[in-house]
Amino acid sequence: MQVRLLGTGGSDGIPAFYGNDRVSNYARQHRGKDLRTRAAALIDGTLKIDLGPDTLCQLNAHGLEARDWTALFFTHSDEDHLCLSELQYGLFPFVECEDLGFTIYANEAVCQKIEERYPKWPIDLVRTQKNTTYLHEGYSVTPVEATHTVGEECHNLVFAKDGCSFLYATDTGVYSEATFGALADRQLDALVIECSDGVHKTPYVGHMDVQQCVEVVGRLRESGALRAGAEVVTTHHTAGGGLTHAELEEILRPYDMRPGFDGMVIEF
Ligand SMILES: [Zn+2]
Repeated sequence: MQVRLLGTGGSDGIPAFYGNDRVSNYARQHRGKDLRTRAAALIDGTLKIDLGPDTLCQLNAHGLEARDWTALFFTHSDEDHLCLSELQYGLFPFVECEDLGFTIYANEAVCQKIEERYPKWPIDLVRTQKNTTYLHEGYSVTPVEATHTVGEECHNLVFAKDGCSFLYATDTGVYSEATFGALADRQLDALVIECSDGVHKTPYVGHMDVQQCVEVVGRLRESGALRAGAEVVTTHHTAGGGLTHAELEEILRPYDMRPGFDGMVIEF
């Protein structure tokens, strides 16, 4: 399985859209791995996760085409993950296509927003629920419930195929016992997990700082959710978290974790 991180930033990216903080200004000056677009990922070139406002520039940056997607999975409906207007360009009159060419898998809130915006459009929508497995072209995909209190059931996603498995865990605080239980003993090969708050924890429980992220990863290792030696990479970083890419590398290294960056490819 190959996972390509297209974006590894939080809702306002890094440099933060209107930010004038140390991390944003460092990113403006040094660019490279310190530039982070809104969080998104692509599995094996065909399974797209989330459709944020940076999608077009991410495709162009990496020489990718949306027509290669067979499925688009949404984690939740926050606007850094669901940019509704970007769906319309997949259909006539923008292109000569009568359907999008991929299936959308999403929770109830995302499906409702898509249906309200495009009531008569031929969009293949599958409503997803936590702890239910969906089969798609040889992959099994199982949403688990994230801790992200925005009035809907937000999903983290387990992808499995041919004995390989992977958890994409963005936009979550510390998991509930139920979610830890749902993931126990899965022996996942890789984890991409959010670390939005860096070293500046905010009162909001729906994101994690470094300490919480390390604790969650520790529990996932102990419970057998992750196999020994599983790759652990972070995403959804914010400038408010207060850490540059190099500082994240240093703070995560003792825990065998690596900060993700835009364009990072993980294979397992
Ligand atoms: Zn987000």
